[in-house]
Amino acid sequence: MTVGVWILGDQLWHNQAALNRTDDESALPVILIESWQQVQQRPYHQQKLVLIWSAMRHFAEELRGAGCQVTYTTSADFETPLKAWIQAHAITELRVMAPNDRPFLRLIQNLQLPCKISLIPNNQFLWKETEFRDWASSRKRLLMEEFYRASRQRFQVLMDGNKPVGGQWNFDKENRQPPKGKLNTPKALWFEPDAITQEVIEQVKSLSFPTYGNLEPFRWAVTREQALQVLNNFIEQRLPTFGPYQDAMVTGEETMWHSLISPYLNIGLLHPLEVIQAAEAAYLEKKLNLNSVEGFIRQIIGWREYIRGVYFYVDADYFQKNWFNHTQPLPEFFWDASKTDMNCLHQVLTQVEGSGYAHHIQRLMILSNFGLIAGISPQELENWFHSAFVDAYDWVMQTNVLGMGLFADGGVLASKPYAASANYINKMSDYCGGCKFDRTVRSGENACPFNFFYWDFLARHREKLQSIGRMSFILANLDKMSPEELATIRQKAADWHLRSQ
Ligand SMILES: Cc1cc2nc3c(=O)[nH]c(=O)nc-3n(C[C@H](O)[C@H](O)[C@H](O)COP(=O)(O)OP(=O)(O)OC[C@H]3O[C@@H](n4cnc5c(N)ncnc54)[C@H](O)[C@@H]3O)c2cc1C
Repeated sequence: MTVGVWILGDQLWHNQAALNRTDDESALPVILIESWQQVQQRPYHQQKLVLIWSAMRHFAEELRGAGCQVTYTTSADFETPLKAWIQAHAITELRVMAPNDRPFLRLIQNLQLPCKISLIPNNQFLWKETEFRDWASSRKRLLMEEFYRASRQRFQVLMDGNKPVGGQWNFDKENRQPPKGKLNTPKALWFEPDAITQEVIEQVKSLSFPTYGNLEPFRWAVTREQALQVLNNFIEQRLPTFGPYQDAMVTGEETMWHSLISPYLNIGLLHPLEVIQAAEAAYLEKKLNLNSVEGFIRQIIGWREYIRGVYFYVDADYFQKNWFNHTQPLPEFFWDASKTDMNCLHQVLTQVEGSGYAHHIQRLMILSNFGLIAGISPQELENWFHSAFVDAYDWVMQTNVLGMGLFADGGVLASKPYAASANYINKMSDYCGGCKFDRTVRSGENACPFNFFYWDFLARHREKLQSIGRMSFILANLDKMSPEELATIRQKAADWHLRSQ
C-alpha cells in the first residue's frame, strides 16, 4: 500500500492530521495544487491570491527540505494533476485532512480518482465538529458566552480551579472605549516580499480574469517563521493594551492594537492553542492587564471556535438564509471605494482595497451594519466579503456575515441585530468629522444615510423586531417619532436606492 497526501492551501502546518499520521513523513509523496478554476469562483483580493500561493510554495520548500517527495503543480482543475500523480507514484490511498469548507468537501467527494480517498479529521481547531455538536445539541440557544466558559474550563485557560481568574469571565466593561486624544498606536510588523513572493506577484499581475483590490504593497507574512514573528510582536507590543480601544476606529490607523493573525490562523501557519498559550503565559509572566488578555483570548477560544462550530452545526442551506427578505443589490461602491461620499465607508473600503484587512468593528459596524439597515441582499454582501478579505473562507464568512452581521439567520447567533445609526459611528470613530453628511440629521437635506436607513430599517421590520426582547427600548424610540418625520425618512431611504440603481 502506498499512501500519498494532498495538502490544501489552508492546511499549511507540519502537524496537520493527514501528514502526522505516518511514522516516516519524509518518505511520503505529497502534492500541492494551485487551481485556476478554484480562484475564478469570485473576484478574489489580489493579495489573498499572493498570500495563499506564496505560503503554499514556501511550505512545499519546507517539506522538500525535510526530505518529502513533493509535487507542486499549477492546473485548471484538481482532478487532472491528482490522477497523474497517483499513477506516477502508484498511490493506493490518498489522504487529505478534512477541509473546513463544505463546498470543498463536496468537491473532494465528487472526485473520480483511481484510489481510495481517506478524509482525516481536521486538527486545526480546538473543538472537533462532533464535540461542538455534543455541546450544542442539548441547548435551546447557542449562546457564545456559555460556549466560551465551557471552552475556558475544558482547556483550563485563565482558570483558578473551577473559577475564572480575576473572579469574572468577561472584562468587556473596561474595554470598548471611544478613541480620544492622540493615541500612541504600535507599528504593525510587515514583511518585504522575497523571491518566491515576487514571482507570485508577477503571476497575479498577469491574470486575465477579474480580481479585486490592490496587489502592492504586499506585506503579509507567508511562512510559519514570519507568522510566529507577528504573534510575538503582538504579544510584546499590542496585547498589553489590546482591550481598551478594541472597538475604536481612527482614520489612518488601520490596525490599532489588533493582532493581524487571522490570515495565518486560517491557513495553518499558526495554531489557536499556541496563540492562547502565548497570551496566557504573557499574562502570568508579565502581569499584563486581565481585561486585555481575557478580551483577546475570548476572540480565539470563544468567538473563533464558536463561529466554526456553528457553521458545521447548522443546516447546509444556511448560506441561503434571509430572515428580513432583503433584496437590494450591493452598491457599486463596495467594489470601488472612490464611488461613495460617506466618509466611514470610504475610509474602510479604501483600506480593504489596499490590504484586504479591516478590524472587527469596521467589518461589523460599518460594512455589514450598512448592508443590514440598507436592506442589501445578504448573499450579495457575503459574496463581497468573501472576495474582499485576505482571511475569508466559507466557514468564517457564513456565520459572521449572515449570522452576526446581517441577522439573516433570524437569531441563531446574535441575540439582536447589530444595527446602528451615525450616533454609534461618531462615538467610536473620527470618521464623521471629515464627512459631507451631517451625523446629527436624520430626515433633512444633508442627513447621514446611516440615520435614515437605521430608522427606515426599524420601521420596515417593526413586526419582526418586536419578537426580539432586546429591541423593545429601541422600538419605543421609533414610536416617539412623528408620522410626518418617519414618512420623510422612509422616502429618503427609497430615493437613495432609486438613485443608486
Ligand atoms: C461581518 C464580519 C466578517 C468577518 N469576516 C472574517 C473573515 O473573513 N475571516 C476571519 O478570520 N474573521 C472574520 N471576522 C471576524 C473578525 O472580524 C476577524 O477575525 C478579525 O477582525 C481579524 O483581525 P485580527 O486578526 O487583527 O483580529 P483580533 O481583533 O486581533 O482578534 C484575534 C483573533 O480572534 C479571532 N476572531 C475574533 N472574532 C472572530 C469571529 N467573529 N470569527 C472568527 N474569528 C474571530 C480571529 O482569529 C482573530 O485573528 C468577521 C467578522 C465580521 C463581523
